[in-house]
Amino acid sequence: NILLLIPFLLFSSGSWSQNTKAEINKKVSDLVSKMTLEEKIGQMTQITITNFEIKGKPGVLDTEKLKEGIQNYHVGSILNVPNPGAATTKKWNEVLTSISNEANKTRLKIPVLYGIDAIHGSSYTAGATLFPQQIGMAATFNTEIVKKGAEISAYETRASSIPWVFSPDLDLPRNPAWSRTWESFGEDVYLSAQMGTAMVNGFEGNDIGSKYHVASCMKHFIGYGSTTTGKDRTPSIIPERILRQFDLTIYQAAIKAGAKSVMVSSGEINGTPVHASKYLITDVLKKELGFEGVVVTDWKDIIYLYTRHKVAENNRDAVRISVMAGIDMSMVPEDYTFYTDLLDLVNKGEVPMSRIDDAVSRILKMKFELNLFQNTVANVKDYPKFGSPEFIAVAYNAAAESITLLKNNAAVLPLQKNEKILVTGPTANSMKYLNGGWSYNWQGENSDTYAADKMTILEALQNKIGAQNVLYTPGADLANYDDAAIEKAVALAKDASKIVLCLGEKNYTETPGDISNLYITPSQTKLALALAKLNKPIILVLNEGRPRLISDFEDQMNAVIQCYLPGNEGARALADILYGDVNPSGRLPYNYPRYPNSLEKYNRKYTESLGDEEQNNDAKYEKSYSPQYEFGSGLSYTTFEYSDLKIDKPAITNTDTVTVTITLKNTGKVIGKEAVLLYLTDEVASITPEVKALKGFQKIELAPNESKTLTFTLTQKDLQFVNNDLKWISEKGKFKVQIGNQAQEFMLN
Ligand code: BGC
Repeated sequence: NILLLIPFLLFSSGSWSQNTKAEINKKVSDLVSKMTLEEKIGQMTQITITNFEIKGKPGVLDTEKLKEGIQNYHVGSILNVPNPGAATTKKWNEVLTSISNEANKTRLKIPVLYGIDAIHGSSYTAGATLFPQQIGMAATFNTEIVKKGAEISAYETRASSIPWVFSPDLDLPRNPAWSRTWESFGEDVYLSAQMGTAMVNGFEGNDIGSKYHVASCMKHFIGYGSTTTGKDRTPSIIPERILRQFDLTIYQAAIKAGAKSVMVSSGEINGTPVHASKYLITDVLKKELGFEGVVVTDWKDIIYLYTRHKVAENNRDAVRISVMAGIDMSMVPEDYTFYTDLLDLVNKGEVPMSRIDDAVSRILKMKFELNLFQNTVANVKDYPKFGSPEFIAVAYNAAAESITLLKNNAAVLPLQKNEKILVTGPTANSMKYLNGGWSYNWQGENSDTYAADKMTILEALQNKIGAQNVLYTPGADLANYDDAAIEKAVALAKDASKIVLCLGEKNYTETPGDISNLYITPSQTKLALALAKLNKPIILVLNEGRPRLISDFEDQMNAVIQCYLPGNEGARALADILYGDVNPSGRLPYNYPRYPNSLEKYNRKYTESLGDEEQNNDAKYEKSYSPQYEFGSGLSYTTFEYSDLKIDKPAITNTDTVTVTITLKNTGKVIGKEAVLLYLTDEVASITPEVKALKGFQKIELAPNESKTLTFTLTQKDLQFVNNDLKWISEKGKFKVQIGNQAQEFMLN
């Protein structure tokens, strides 16, 4: 019955209405033609109006500020920085309704675009499903689960009436100390591009106008993660050849996936702040990569062009430079000098109307695509799955697939449920540390927002084996020495047969998370060394956003397990892994350094590690490439045998693709998932080649004795690199494919 089918189809696609590209373009140009200059510049202005300062009353709206922004300055976009706390979907709906009512009083009734940092779930909405942070999502090596997570985040963000998320993060941290390492997908370009694509697809679906999808925002364009100091918002030096081969490749993939907007990096590259770079924003991003979406600044970054970077004399100068560089929207929450200065610049002919029209058209296009003209506020009843067990199960699975077993001497893991354990360490009993930043507020400060049924590591272990089998004391503070606390842990350990030692970091993001010392804090090292003297098996659980060095005591740990910032369900997943109810399958998305001056990436150049090749025999060289754990490391409770690596043709030309097959067998006793990683080596090249580079991965599950043959396809692009003329080229010669312990070569003729 076709009549019965129609409402079903409408509901299942979740569409408010579909617009074709041509229809949207027509609507945009019609609207732009009716707008005054003031209305256009207002669209380019993004402010914050919610006042979340009042604890216990999240989402309080500053109605005066709202009215002023929309009526006097025609403001087109709002973002919020709730601090502290997160609002319920109902509260968010009230906020968005007030905004929508205010916008409806204006001449053209243009809806306001609300954006939010939904970073690992809809992280500013009370009761939202919180996933592992991006670094953990990367460690799953499972694009399906990453996409699913973004779909759920989109659903829950739309349930909060918000249509735009400042995610995914496509930064490539080159110094692991960087305080936003955990917001990224780690150090590899291929992994980041695949995961970024999955996340954009999950957020946007086939139609961001659907009531279950949102517009994504790639960030922070570009080179933001590569600061030389490893500190946030400090300068980067990146040769363009490198920028193109690595950083830009990730953006290209996300743009191809359809990403609707991009946020600009607060940093500078080679002396030019990115917000001032016409070359990067207009010539490369908009023209060369064909990016048709909205370019938004990061927080106050136009102002910072004169107050921090000193490339502009004053605000007016900064506005001119950045708008002419290609900025479409200014995230300038503090005053309206962007609006007044830009108005003056256009009136005096220093910024052409064509530039303004380009910016406004991009913004309006996104509003039409998001269907904001028809519906800005969600009906909470349309979102019955918000925070549901079904969604929580996905967050749990993501955590379970991310947690990475790095060491398991003498199979100390899994633990036996009938033995008494000591749980200790400063991260053992904290929801804040488990989640990290962007969790119910900017730096994740708000521990009282976590629902009572969410478990810390301690609670999850008590739940698993019974409180009577778990001894607990914090043992140390993250920062301060406390000998009495250590003594207490040592005394308590005597009654336990094994020790679960939980070390790591506090919650942080951005500049407040900068550190001067990559080693794990001395107070924690002291606790680890004191416990090690007891000669009881120690299972080290790391709960951290970046690899803090542990080489002072790692050799005294029997097992090491990295759980990153696994989110609300992370502790349950960890407990299941520790007791063997779940088989670990995460892999490290970065090299875990051993020493502060050995920060090589896995895809290093040969001469970065003098000593691991023929120089190894030369007494003058120390073996210098020896990360604590290498990128891609991750153990399982079962064993996988790799065999029969085959390449379809021994020699190819530069139009062929290469098909690689490998057979994998679970030769152990338990079912397990394996991330199968394919590395390629260009053996000789005119630009010094990388030792190896990831070019493919698949995650599969095998029961004991089960085997499967996997197929990978390498395209010509996989064989290419960027040369000194900034061109992607491949060169004739030998290439080596490695998967597990198998390797094969082929020739490019
Ligand atoms: C951060 C961005 C974030 C923005 C809006 C900035 O400080 O660098 O990542 O999206 O604030 O909250």
